This record gives sequence, structure tokens and C-alpha cells, in this order.
Amino acid sequence: MSIDFTLTDAQAELKAAARRFARETLSQVREAIHYLPTPESRFLATRPFYEELVREGFLRRLIPQPFGGEGGGMVDMAIVAEEFYAEDANVPLTAFANLLGLMPIFLAGTPEQQKAFVAPFLECRGAPLAALASSEPGGSANYHSDAVGGGVRTRARLDGQQWVIDGAKQWISGASGWDGKGADLLCVVCRTDAGVAPQNGVSVLLVPGPAAGFRVNRYHESPGHRGHLTSNFTLDQVRVPEGNIVGGVGQGLQVVDASFSATAALVGVMSLGVLRAAFDFTLHFARTQRRGGPVPVIEHQAVGYALADAKASIEAVRSLSYRACFALDQQAPEALELALHAKVFGSETAVRVITELMRVVGIDSYDHATSPLASLLQDALAFPLFDGGNMGVRRRQLHELMKQDDYDSLSTVFHL
Ligand SMILES: Cc1cc2nc3c(=O)[nH]c(=O)nc-3n(C[C@H](O)[C@H](O)[C@H](O)COP(=O)(O)OP(=O)(O)OC[C@H]3O[C@@H](n4cnc5c(N)ncnc54)[C@H](O)[C@@H]3O)c2cc1C
Repeated sequence: MSIDFTLTDAQAELKAAARRFARETLSQVREAIHYLPTPESRFLATRPFYEELVREGFLRRLIPQPFGGEGGGMVDMAIVAEEFYAEDANVPLTAFANLLGLMPIFLAGTPEQQKAFVAPFLECRGAPLAALASSEPGGSANYHSDAVGGGVRTRARLDGQQWVIDGAKQWISGASGWDGKGADLLCVVCRTDAGVAPQNGVSVLLVPGPAAGFRVNRYHESPGHRGHLTSNFTLDQVRVPEGNIVGGVGQGLQVVDASFSATAALVGVMSLGVLRAAFDFTLHFARTQRRGGPVPVIEHQAVGYALADAKASIEAVRSLSYRACFALDQQAPEALELALHAKVFGSETAVRVITELMRVVGIDSYDHATSPLASLLQDALAFPLFDGGNMGVRRRQLHELMKQDDYDSLSTVFHL
């Protein structure tokens, strides 16, 4: 058995670079967006930070090597995600949403698609945005459903040599682009054949922006990730060439499922980053504050126990999330289950533990001026809800796995 969390030299260098960038640059995002009134204004205020992230080569370092980037895989992404999220949730989510947006092309794109559509994200300049548009107004937990009027409702039909897309999407990261006219690339999940089961009737279409027929209806005003922009938009007879299909006609659900497997593990790591920031702040508070009493707060046994419990939970999230990323890199059979556990356990642990740490800090944790904890909790609230909500999508995937006749509960640990 080999259980080893040692970083390679290249990973140690990546971690140091990510930490430096996060502390010097991303740490300023919270202040830059705090008093801005609208989702669009906050998102625009993050643009210089995002441009610097791109200029520093972090997008390029995350894009896997087979597609022209320098990324070594999921563990490399996890290293960067942890360091970034420990300082800021906004710009990192904008950056990682690009990888989700490009994931269908990585997984199922033709060499020509990979060359053409990934290229702008490899250049270390500008502020390119790609998005995977799956979620729809009215709900997407049942995107596999073949109920009449259910499942994926955005439609695409062939008209000559063009696909014509009609429908609406919501909560899509970066989809509006910086100017509301659309991201550089939208991977749109569409029903291409309503007459067959969704497993054969859903496809992913590539929509380069700005596209005629794309219209933002509204921007989401969310409690956390307040400098990251998601929108509700309509696709009204949006036309793309017939060749802009990823993974073949009718193969969309498989592509979407595989894309979201990788991101599940990353949500565990994002949770870890936020937890780490919350714990470090609280530990410092407990060591340095007496709150009018005779000893530092950490000397009180109840506080010591709370900190110990919080740290144990954080270690569990860390081990599980990195193991899931490693398993994904190895394409190991247990990767999907571990990634799902990392998503569900990591996200719910983040919300629970940050709330407990706020009790340690007390009333000053309820003031944005004196503590980052409330803001970290607001960011963490998204983790159980996004990337496929824990109630509707993620637990169902685990349930499905465990119902399979050949499911072996030990297979996540030992291959006998
Ligand atoms: C910051 C942020 C960024 C996002 N970025 C993107 C993005 O880039 N691309 C994208 O496509 N989406 C994105 N989303 C949306 C996100 O991925 C959601 O998880 C997704 O829309 C599904 O939401 P849901 O599970 O609540 O589904 P809904 O269909 O709205 O379900 C609502 C609730 O109904 C119940 N329910 C419904 N069906 C079932 C069922 N079968 N079993 C059990 N319970 C059920 C559950 O309680 C569920 O929570 C983003 C969201 C946020 C907050």
C-alpha cells in the first residue's frame, strides 16, 4: 500500500507560486468589491485581478498538457484551488468555471475543436471566459429525466448545415461575458432529439460569443461569491455550424456527467480552502484575544475542544478531496465515488464548521469589518447547492452507485 501526499518538485513550485499570487493579489478582491451595489459592477471590478491571473499563466498551468497547457491533472488543480480559495472565492471560481466550460472539449472534442476552441485560453493575455451551460430556469436536478416537458428543455434542431438553439439557462458562471453579450465560448446542453431517451437525445453544442440571439434576462444576486457573475439568459434561434457538436449527436449526457465528476472533487478542495482561512483566523483570535477575561480565549477548555473538532473535520476534507483528485488522475475505478463524497462531505462540512468557528469568535464574527468569517460562510453556502445540488443530484449519484449489483463498498480502498 502506498499512501503518500508528498508533492513533486514541480507541484511544490506550483503551490508556492499559487500561494504568492493569492496572498499578494487575490487577498485584495474582497475589499475591491465590498461596497459595490450590483452583481455586474462587482464582477467588472474583479476583471483586473482575473487578467493578472491569466497573465501570470495560471489558466495555462491548469489546462491539461494534452490540450496545450501545462497542467498535470486534478492534483495540480487542487493545489491551486486550495491556495486561491484560502484568499478569495470570486476570481478563482471565474477561473475554474473556464475549466468546466472547456471540459466537454477536453473529454470528447475532436482534435480540431481542441485546437480551435482551447487556443484563446492558452495565451497569457486578456480575460477569456468559457462556460458550461447546463442549469435551466425551473430546475435541473432531473436533467436525466425523459418526463414530457422535463429533463433538458433547451432545444436544438438542424436547419441545413446549422444547429438552431432555442431555450433558456440560468446560474451559468461567466456566461454573460464581461459586457453582457456572451462569453467567448458557451458549451450549451441541448435536447437534440425529443423522440428518444435523453441518454441518446441530448447533445453539447459549442457557441462562440458574441452570438446573435443570446440575451441576458437578469444577473443573480447571491449571498456569497459576490464578485463572480452568473446569469439567467435566453437563447433565441442561436445558430452554430453543424460541426460545433461535442462527442457526437445524442452523446451529451455522458459528456456532461463526466465533466461534472472532476468538478465534484474540486468542490471538496474549494471547501477546504475556505475552511483553512476560517480556521486560521479563529485560531489567531483565540490565541491573542482575552475578551476582558484573565487568559487568552484558547485557554478555555470549550474553545480548545471546538478548535480540535474543527481541525479534525478539515483534515478529513483534505484527505478525502486530495485522494479523490489523485484517483481521478489515475482514472481509478473508485474515482467517481470518492469525488462525490468529497463534494457532499466537503461542502456540508464547510458550512457546519465555519458556523461553529463563528461561535468561537463570538459577536465580532458577525461584522464584516472585524472578521472574514461571515463572508466565508456566505461563500461556503454555495458549495452544497452548486455543481449539482447535494439533495437532488449528488446524493442520487451515490445512491445509484450503491444500488448496482456489483457495488463493493471496499472498492474505494482496496482492489482485491
Ligand atoms: C455560484 C454558482 C455558479 C454556478 N455555475 C453553474 C455553471 O457554470 N453551469 C451550470 O450549468 N450551473 C451552474 N450553477 C447551478 C448549479 O450547478 C446547480 O447545482 C444546478 O442548477 C442544480 O440545482 P438543484 O440541484 O438545486 O436543482 P433543482 O432542479 O432546482 O432542484 C431543487 C431541489 O429540488 C429537490 N429535488 C429535485 N429533484 C430531485 C430528485 N430527483 N431527488 C431528490 N431531490 C430532488 C432537491 O431538494 C433540490 O435541491 C451555478 C450555481 C451557483 C450558485
